[in-house]
Amino acid sequence: MPWGLPYTERNKELHVPDQTITCRDCGTNFIFSDSEQQFFAEKGFTNAPSRCPDCRRANRAGGGSSRGGGASRDRVMTDVTCSSCGKLTQVPFVPRGDRPVYCSDCFATQRGGSSYGGGRRY
Ligand SMILES: [Zn+2]
Ligand SMILES: [Zn+2]
Repeated sequence: MPWGLPYTERNKELHVPDQTITCRDCGTNFIFSDSEQQFFAEKGFTNAPSRCPDCRRANRAGGGSSRGGGASRDRVMTDVTCSSCGKLTQVPFVPRGDRPVYCSDCFATQRGGSSYGGGRRY
């Protein structure tokens, strides 16, 4: 006996339904709207944000804040623009302004490319 079509049927539509996510920092429910989901997808992110916009902003602005207590266990991902290709990416640290930051692709290229053929060092 059919109970009606499952909700996943909606995934056939191009329009992605808004997601409601509970912020893991403050516990607030926030909307991960379809436009934000598209924005994330364009940036190549596969995971939905786990924090509300406020906490994300606070996290980004806070730098090395130790206010949160046990937050140091989590890697803080920071949005950066790759110094090489200009792509938006995330790095697991807070970059200093005086150093170039690369996306993972360019980082691998920089590492492997510069000393290529010169004997491998780890
Ligand atoms: Zn929050
Ligand atoms: Zn790059």
